[in-house]
Amino acid sequence: MFKQRFAVVVLAALFSSGAYAGHWTYEGEEGPEHWGDISADFAICAKGKTQTPVDIQHEVKVARFDAIKFNYVTAASEILNNGHTVQVNVPAGSFINVDGTDFQLKQFHFHTPSENSVHGKAYPMEMHLVHADKDGNLAVVAVMFKESSENKVLARLWKQLPTHADEKNILAEAVNPVTLLPKAKHYYRFDGSLTTPPCSEGVRWLVLKDPIAVSREQIDAFAAVVHEHNARPLQPVGARVIISE
Ligand SMILES: [Zn+2]
Repeated sequence: MFKQRFAVVVLAALFSSGAYAGHWTYEGEEGPEHWGDISADFAICAKGKTQTPVDIQHEVKVARFDAIKFNYVTAASEILNNGHTVQVNVPAGSFINVDGTDFQLKQFHFHTPSENSVHGKAYPMEMHLVHADKDGNLAVVAVMFKESSENKVLARLWKQLPTHADEKNILAEAVNPVTLLPKAKHYYRFDGSLTTPPCSEGVRWLVLKDPIAVSREQIDAFAAVVHEHNARPLQPVGARVIISE
């Protein structure tokens, strides 16, 4: 019963327009410091011990570190504004393999500035590629953006950037998310949570080390849509171990 409820809340949070259980924001009385009080479904936002985002510090190098196998074969279909972020939905068929398990890519979305940071350094933007296995376990691949020249792939998405909440656009150009990954796929790994309510834990976090390029104009265009920022503050690492190769 609990597990079923958990799945309903998580899936609603991930794939609906975000109106489930309680209204929340990134500032003020419904901001991150208060998420745990807004709804019983959000209690873990305050009480959790393995919350995301984190500052990646003191990572432990492990000798045997399996590569993430990316099998992204479907093009993104639609881009929508859910009031918290801009999300790009991906039709079934694309997946990663981690720990011998396939996790289907459901959607990817963006945060500005970055939510996670590395050795105290934040980036101007971060992309989260959200995957689920057949039992509903989640794995998020995070890609950092560094301010540089225009990102040509992102430009194709930003042409149809939905500027107001609940706006959804069918993508005119095919964009395979594999083209938004850095060449080298080295990564940090830790156990964490959703970074938005209900902040559910048990999420495998895979943060790619190499950032990709984005222009100042592209960051500004996104920031305007999310009312300047949509990043949850850093959460304590606690007893967790962050590993990398
Ligand atoms: Zn995210």
